[in-house]
Amino acid sequence: MTAQPSWHLQAACAESGSALFYSSLPEDIAQAKSICCTCPVVGPCGAYAEAVLERHGVWGGRSEDERRSELARRRMRRDVGEQLDAAMANEGNWTVIGDYDNRYTAKERASVLRKRALPPGNWTFSSRARGDGGSELLALYSRPARAVGD
Ligand code: SF4
Repeated sequence: MTAQPSWHLQAACAESGSALFYSSLPEDIAQAKSICCTCPVVGPCGAYAEAVLERHGVWGGRSEDERRSELARRRMRRDVGEQLDAAMANEGNWTVIGDYDNRYTAKERASVLRKRALPPGNWTFSSRARGDGGSELLALYSRPARAVGD
């Protein structure tokens, strides 16, 4: 038998039953989230669901879809960091940093990257369509020019 985490004893959902929290009906999900808003352990509960990659139900005030989206956003941020590192390591050369099934995705990603805070230096992004309907995102990096006297 798995031990319950200690915060579980203070759970506001203990009285309401689990059906509401595992329902797929939008009104049930909204009601479950409103109970979470009153819960004294909303933080630890959400952190626990995140740590164990809980896939089902409302936890810590977040629905399954919200947790999934948050994970995807984090993965994307981490991946972008790794992609930029690869381009920096290949300074002065175009580097393919993304490979997508959709022919438009690389163009969209290039547009997003142009607007984001990037590591210091000169960045140029480009995209190209692949023959199979996909697309590639490319980056060109060069170090920032040094000021006279540096
Ligand atoms: S945050 Fe929500 S799901 Fe988590 S213990 Fe509290 S009421 Fe239950």
